Amino acid sequence: MTHPTDRPWSHEIPGGRWDTIVIGSGMGGMTTAAMLAKLGQRVLVLEQHVIPGGFTQTFKRPGYHWDVGVHIVGEMTGRSFAGRLLNDLTDGRLEWESVGPVYDEFDFPDGFTIQFPGSPEAFRDTLLDYFPHERQGIDEYLSLVRRASRASGRNLQARALPWYLAPGGRRKAAEAAHPHISATTQSVLESLIDDPRLRSVLAAQWGYYGVPPSRSSFAMHALMVQHFLHGAFYPVGSAASIAPALLQTVADSGGWTAVRRTVEDIVVRRRRVAGVRLADGTEIEANRVVSAAGAIPTAAMLGESAPDSWADSYREPGPAHLSLYLGFSGVDIAARGAQAYCQWYYDSWDTEAIEWDVHPDRAPGTAPVVFCSFPSIKDPVHDPGPDLHHTGEAITFVPWEPFSKWKDARWKRRGAEYEEFKSELTEALLGQYRGLYPELAPHVEHAEMSTPVSTHHFTSAPAGSIYGLATEPDRFEDETLLPGTSISGLYLSGADISTPGVAGALMGGVLAAVAAAPVAGGRYVRVVMKR
Ligand SMILES: Cc1cc2nc3c(=O)[nH]c(=O)nc-3n(C[C@H](O)[C@H](O)[C@H](O)COP(=O)(O)OP(=O)(O)OC[C@H]3O[C@@H](n4cnc5c(N)ncnc54)[C@H](O)[C@@H]3O)c2cc1C
Repeated sequence: MTHPTDRPWSHEIPGGRWDTIVIGSGMGGMTTAAMLAKLGQRVLVLEQHVIPGGFTQTFKRPGYHWDVGVHIVGEMTGRSFAGRLLNDLTDGRLEWESVGPVYDEFDFPDGFTIQFPGSPEAFRDTLLDYFPHERQGIDEYLSLVRRASRASGRNLQARALPWYLAPGGRRKAAEAAHPHISATTQSVLESLIDDPRLRSVLAAQWGYYGVPPSRSSFAMHALMVQHFLHGAFYPVGSAASIAPALLQTVADSGGWTAVRRTVEDIVVRRRRVAGVRLADGTEIEANRVVSAAGAIPTAAMLGESAPDSWADSYREPGPAHLSLYLGFSGVDIAARGAQAYCQWYYDSWDTEAIEWDVHPDRAPGTAPVVFCSFPSIKDPVHDPGPDLHHTGEAITFVPWEPFSKWKDARWKRRGAEYEEFKSELTEALLGQYRGLYPELAPHVEHAEMSTPVSTHHFTSAPAGSIYGLATEPDRFEDETLLPGTSISGLYLSGADISTPGVAGALMGGVLAAVAAAPVAGGRYVRVVMKR
């Protein structure tokens, strides 16, 4: 075993033969790499960005640091498979802190506020307190969520197995999940709930998977509700703790993570993967390649080698977003309205009107929904220092199209029109934020916005998508979005073959590792499951 290092990655690529190359170091790629390392493989992780982590990356400004894509995560205790697995893959190096008895709060018009507690009983009681006339609908909804999430979860697991290993099992799992996958969230809510306000409250968490109720698969919705049913957690030391903890496991098994290494092509010879070619022309050979870069970038890396079936497959990116990163100074933010739980502000009861209709040619107006979170008060080891530094984030959804013309422009050199557009959006969202948190507003020392172009630049996300492929019904039955591909030795990992979210990408990572090493991987999973 090598000595633990703070940064088990560098630009260098060590020599020697690799068992597996993993493209992309997001949660999916890191999970696959760590699991294959645990099975004794020598794994090389290749990451295009300057730091690993994908959406678990963090960034710093003097006195502050922010997470990019981790606010709260469910199932991170020893009672859940995901929590036990992550604990094993990191050899206990990663710890999670509960955000408290409540994990989400929703503010609708006319002063209607409701909090979602992190226990199934308290969740049901809260819904019944607010909507006593909907008792039957609430109970049927919760029961359906349980059944749908169980069937959909089993189906995702079954999809990791090749058809020839378990044709009956896979078919049965697919048939049981089909009614939940093919129904939209809206159709299910309309069939069970009469009160439109309760329908909006139950749909209000769509932002965790990014597609409004009329288009999202109910299976996705049920998996998300189930995911948070026992509360939410935040990584101790912020999301910055995740990559070192997982990638150390890769290094301990003789593997390595090389950053600033963009994979240009996946090299395929006679329908078998041979390795990868980097943007600088270097070719690296491996027995297997796992792409955790997302389904759309993977197709681009394969070029003409992509299987014909991929041409008709589901490859629609989900929505884009704006993030406003805030630094507060000189104040105890918890005493001025900041909470450890997440807060969602809706300016109407319409959970379909999710995108802020922005364009460089017109004044921005206001965002219809704003998600707010305060990373520094969730982190038990955050040190505010003598200047009492704290952080906040505000997120809203926007279309990609008004930003797309800058997608290939150089970082920090996108020109005056882009800067002006971004500055108008920053001012507009900050103005809205000041209205939501009047007592915090005077203490904002730093405000900085990321746009869909930033997301595209830092993570290669197609169309700046916040969650990868849109979570519409077709996606979950697409036979090409499986961990195993029709190219021998090539596997897919990450959120796109599972569900969005840190735990979704983690499960995608496990499925890819099991597909790549079915016997040893299956045994490893069974041991962790039984613990
Ligand atoms: C603003 C925001 C808030 C979020 N909040 C939450 C939350 O609170 N809770 C939660 O559970 N989830 C949240 N998520 C979602 C979650 O972070 C993601 O779904 C998950 O981390 C995706 O992991 P992944 O491994 O599938 O993909 P990614 O993290 O996108 O990883 C893909 C990696 O591949 C790399 N790559 C791409 N192309 C190449 C190439 N050619 N060569 C080399 N490397 C390449 C990218 O740089 C990237 O590092 C949030 C996401 C965002 C953006």
